[in-house]
Amino acid sequence: MTSSQSGPVHDHGGGVRSLRVPIPDNPLGHTLVYVVDTDRGPVLIDTGWDDPESWDTLADGLTACGTSVAEIHGVVITHHHPDHHGLSGRVREASGAWIAMHAADTAVVRRTREARPERWFSYMTAKLTAAGAPEEHIAPLRTPRPRALPGLSPALPDRDIVPGELLDLAGRRLRAIWTPGHTPGHVCLHLEETHPAQLPGHGRLFSGDHLLPGITPHIGLYEDPDDATVTDPLGDYLDSLERVGRLAPAEVLPAHQHPFPDAAARVRELLTHHEARLTALRALLAEPLTPWQLAERMEWNRPWEQIPYGSRNIAVSEAEAHLRRLVKLGRAEAVPGSEPVAYIALS
Ligand SMILES: [Zn+2]
Ligand SMILES: [Zn+2]
Repeated sequence: MTSSQSGPVHDHGGGVRSLRVPIPDNPLGHTLVYVVDTDRGPVLIDTGWDDPESWDTLADGLTACGTSVAEIHGVVITHHHPDHHGLSGRVREASGAWIAMHAADTAVVRRTREARPERWFSYMTAKLTAAGAPEEHIAPLRTPRPRALPGLSPALPDRDIVPGELLDLAGRRLRAIWTPGHTPGHVCLHLEETHPAQLPGHGRLFSGDHLLPGITPHIGLYEDPDDATVTDPLGDYLDSLERVGRLAPAEVLPAHQHPFPDAAARVRELLTHHEARLTALRALLAEPLTPWQLAERMEWNRPWEQIPYGSRNIAVSEAEAHLRRLVKLGRAEAVPGSEPVAYIALS
């Protein structure tokens, strides 16, 4: 019914196509959902945002591919975010397909399904207080109203994606590469088959949000109210970048923007970017700063005064992830006795 919005189906060759599934009200625009042919029917890599127009785009796109939602054999999810996992439940209902995800992200999905919204608000209140956020930023969290947020009841996967192993796909060689950082259970999928256009390198890599051609993915804390482990997501991410760089795929098929050839060059750019950012943050920490104060002073895509409320929370999380990394590297430390805790650079 929305053929004009069904979007182009792009054929990447070798039994791989992509559909541009829109993300409503989001500057990213769309998720690239990949359709991989197997001997038991098409398998999707990610599904897109749970929204009627997105669903229609996915369904129309599959029809344009000569198949249908009902024919889908399985769903492989790169990570639990709603622009990737949102429509998985509907696809499973319509087709009986299995859904596969890394266990660390499945754990996030399980907790999200079980958690009451109040728990999230109390967690955020405590966290932002500890990060030094001003009272006017925290106050709205103390009077939570019931909200129907998308992604509050994400589909529980049926299968684990096991790092290093081939997925059970008839007639295809698709290996799971665990790439934590953007989320704890993010995976890239390495299609270990000759590139259909004979590009040099080793097969093709479905990179999810881990490796994108023109943007750096958000790396914040993993934000798990039920897990007090002091994680180092930025350290995880940098390690994961090196891991996919070493695979040397002939082409990267990311979940946003567009495919690109030279994974190693993009990995180098991102490593350089993060190294420069850590150096800049260390310079800011010549004076003691709370995570909130650091976020205010960091460079964003617009001035801090113009960053909306929700994005400020994401920015603080990103500042905290960078502080964790600097502390772990011995390049910064918490000022003893500071409350809220402030950090200072070490020479
Ligand atoms: Zn994501
Ligand atoms: Zn995404």
